[in-house]
Amino acid sequence: MNQNSQYLVEMQEQLPRIRANLQDIQQTIADACARTGRQQGSVQLVAVTKQRSIAETLAVCQCGVRYLGENRVEELSRKVPLMHELWRGPEITWHMIGHLQSRKADDALSYSHICHSVDSFKLAARLERLAQARGCVYPVLLECNVSGEASKDGFVLAERDSWAEFVANAAHLVQYRHTQVRGLMTMAPVTQDPEDARGTFSKLRELQMYLAQALPELDWRELSMGMSGDYRVAIEEGATLVRIGSAIFE
Ligand SMILES: *Cc1c(COP(=O)(O)O)cnc(C)c1O
Repeated sequence: MNQNSQYLVEMQEQLPRIRANLQDIQQTIADACARTGRQQGSVQLVAVTKQRSIAETLAVCQCGVRYLGENRVEELSRKVPLMHELWRGPEITWHMIGHLQSRKADDALSYSHICHSVDSFKLAARLERLAQARGCVYPVLLECNVSGEASKDGFVLAERDSWAEFVANAAHLVQYRHTQVRGLMTMAPVTQDPEDARGTFSKLRELQMYLAQALPELDWRELSMGMSGDYRVAIEEGATLVRIGSAIFE
């Protein structure tokens, strides 16, 4: 058997488990939307396939997921061409969700359709230059550290006092034609109780409303927040994109 048909055999083995997990997750998403009066279609699932095999990645696509997330450019650049060759279904949208070094920005543009983790104006400027050279438009989310944890990437915006200065520094993004802001992303502190994340998520939402008022020329609609342990709470607090890995694959 050649390598490609081996992937397909392995995919079949992964399918039942992944399908069952996805059904549970979609139900949780639907319930959270219903509870908070949100439309079903207002929350998109990004399946985080980092460190997952090609067979698992194919299986999640086979179950109807179209948004895939990777946190490292190296893995993205290996997986995307392989999936392009193997996956025969509707087009996949690849989300770069992990910290992106400026020197890898060009590869991120080659292999992803959107980046959730723009965490400096320097990186935004580099993406704008590179996307302009390619003549493409690259949507980005600004990663924000609103919890104040020292270990987190992102613009540090835990103090509301710092928001006005951020607006002044971000105003130049309005000039960009190739790197387009679409919203915000955050990671909540890792805790046992998902309720502990609620304050972080509601603060990102508050920041979104602040920015929408202060910089209405930019598009702030997306809120990427919530992972396997806390996506229900994130949806209740307004997430439009949830990034889920282990709950799908384990
Ligand atoms: C791994 C990862 C996720 C998914 O985490 P799970 O807990 O496995 O759902 C989400 N976002 C980022 C940035 C990640 O690196």
